[in-house]
Amino acid sequence: MHDIIENGKNKKWVVCKLCGSKVLRPCSASHEERELFLPFMQKKKDFAGAEEHQGEILKKHWMVSDMFTFENVGFSMTVDSIKYLACADCECGPIGWHDINDKTKFYVAVERVGHQDFSQ
Ligand SMILES: [Zn+2]
Repeated sequence: MHDIIENGKNKKWVVCKLCGSKVLRPCSASHEERELFLPFMQKKKDFAGAEEHQGEILKKHWMVSDMFTFENVGFSMTVDSIKYLACADCECGPIGWHDINDKTKFYVAVERVGHQDFSQ
């Protein structure tokens, strides 16, 4: 974990695990622990709307307080005030979680994304 976190922020680029699309630049998100339910990863953005979805509770997240901080991100339809975040390019997801009642918190699940250092 400490190779991707520095001073509570993401040390590396946060990228899509499947296609490498850039989601967040280094040092743009804060590490936050919170229990959030995310449906299992799917290749297409059809995870919203499907009821009775299987998923898991994830605890480690990158938290961003402004959606314009994202380099690239897609959103699912809203289901019970929750929008899931997906890769803007390949639409796989969910990689993150957002409650539309709180516009200052966007979460990206650490386990659902890749971390890359493009300077090397
Ligand atoms: Zn992708």
